[in-house]
Amino acid sequence: MVIYNNIAPLRTALNAFGQAGQSVGFVPTMGALHAGHAALVRQARQENHRVVVSIFVNPTQFGPTEDLAKYPRTLDADVALLQELGVDAVFAPEPATMYMPNEQVHVTLPALALLYEGKTRPGHFDGVALVVSKLLNLVQPTRAYFGRKDYQQTVVVRQLVQALFFNTQVVVADTVREPDGLAMSSRNRYLNATERLQAPLIYQGLLAMRAAAVAGQQVQVLQNIFADMLLKGPDFKLDYVAIADGESLEPLSQLEPDRNPVALVAAWLGSTRLIDNLGLH
Ligand code: AMP
Repeated sequence: MVIYNNIAPLRTALNAFGQAGQSVGFVPTMGALHAGHAALVRQARQENHRVVVSIFVNPTQFGPTEDLAKYPRTLDADVALLQELGVDAVFAPEPATMYMPNEQVHVTLPALALLYEGKTRPGHFDGVALVVSKLLNLVQPTRAYFGRKDYQQTVVVRQLVQALFFNTQVVVADTVREPDGLAMSSRNRYLNATERLQAPLIYQGLLAMRAAAVAGQQVQVLQNIFADMLLKGPDFKLDYVAIADGESLEPLSQLEPDRNPVALVAAWLGSTRLIDNLGLH
């Protein structure tokens, strides 16, 4: 496994893969790797000749009051895990390698980027769209792997790939959860012991919503069910609970099964913000 910090040597390696006719699976990450990331890498390993993983805490997707400075950075452990998983190349650039001093390029998906996560985190998806565009353009992978855990992100990426003609197949993998149902996230390590005990209420709330949806309840009832579930955790503060078309993410006020409805939720647990989602069909 080779670690690249710069563009030119990575390109040389990628060109060699291309000349050998080898497919490339690419897993973009922000590091602080956990079993959710490992599952994406394993799938990429199975489906491609070569696997490239990027580790880059992308500053443009963090708002001014967000956790960029304190975002966990565990490069040595990440590299050891990726080595064990049989990754060929790790791309771990500095911000100055990814962005020009006065970067003028913007990639925006105006409607989608203002809903749900984008409403609470203005500019977040512009940062995601820009960095994903740069990375896909650089790596030009056969397949790129994303987690369903960040559902809205997968919709943004699919639209981006389609609109900008990236010659890459987007693969979305299921959310990997802790045994108690909490979706794995690099941010879970911010939770203290009492918060961690309350954290599974998010998944329990999602499961309760799905059960109610299957029983024929309507959107407002489902939203109340989720809000009530979080009330069982004294340190929870609901950010949003939305039900959306599974493909376009258009908000749904009625459950329409042929629109693959998905529940999207975000909540503060103490000072940590957690997100999750579940298909309701
Ligand atoms: P991040 O490092 O948080 O930017 O995540 C990198 C990739 O891993 C993204 O595509 C995430 O959606 C995915 N990912 C994060 N957590 C999980 C999880 N619990 N299960 C599956 N994929 C995940």
